[in-house]
Amino acid sequence: MTLDLSGKAILVTGGTRGIGRAIVEAAAHAGASVAFTYRSSTETADQLVEALGGDEKALAIQADAASGEDAQTAVEAVVAKWGSIDGLVVNAGITRDGLMIRMDAQAWQDVIDTNLTGAFHVTKAAYRPMMKQRAGSIVTISSVVGVMGNAGQANYAASKAGLIGFTKSIARELSGRGVRANVVAPGYIETDMTADLGPAAEALMDQIPLKRLGQPDDIAAAVLFLLSDAAAYVTGHVLHVDGGMAM
Ligand code: NDP
Repeated sequence: MTLDLSGKAILVTGGTRGIGRAIVEAAAHAGASVAFTYRSSTETADQLVEALGGDEKALAIQADAASGEDAQTAVEAVVAKWGSIDGLVVNAGITRDGLMIRMDAQAWQDVIDTNLTGAFHVTKAAYRPMMKQRAGSIVTISSVVGVMGNAGQANYAASKAGLIGFTKSIARELSGRGVRANVVAPGYIETDMTADLGPAAEALMDQIPLKRLGQPDDIAAAVLFLLSDAAAYVTGHVLHVDGGMAM
């Protein structure tokens, strides 16, 4: 079976770079119409729309993940353009790392606002249209850190662990409506977010059974499966794509 997303309208938050961009490109390649949000990379966003075939196939929306108003606007734009929202990928995320002893309340709040409350906002905006359609697939991007914890990332780990409970809860709420919700929990993936790992990257290899960092495409493949009808019987699942780190 090949994964076919043609006829589906998908919204990806944080689609200009890294994992989100790989998901946007893979979904478009599989035939979907794809909208993506971003925070500040307007030029990159416009170039990506062009690369995906222009305004008919793609839509870039500047929207801060932490804003409920922006989330509502983004979902409405997708429904206005393509008549439905068939897939939602909650991908936008940030880090503000620091050991707890030095972490201030702002670093805590910024990460929770973007990564976890952001998921609440955009999912809530997509809820009604998906329930009305009686179809849809929501995929949230958690992290191996949300499952295992990580020194220096208490805020980030809390947000990513929170996403798992959140997603399982909405999976239960939505299952009677034909809407599925699943989590992808990536390990360490080579993106701007992990560009500063430095010597820590070497040490990480001891913890990764498959002995390499992941690529954005490794995550996009898993997300595509969960968005597609091939995953019609999968909901409330946490799919670890981490080279075996969390087993
Ligand atoms: P990047 O930092 O490479 O890219 C982040 C993307 O999210 C960009 O498109 C950025 O837009 C967008 N973004 C950031 N903040 C906001 C915001 N407030 N509102 C809207 N868009 C925003 O991140 P990754 O690709 O590495 O990570 C993507 C997701 O995967 C995150 O949730 C991250 O936590 C998760 N993850 C990443 C791992 C990794 O190893 N890289 C491992 C596990 C999970 P702009 O270009 O405008 O800044």
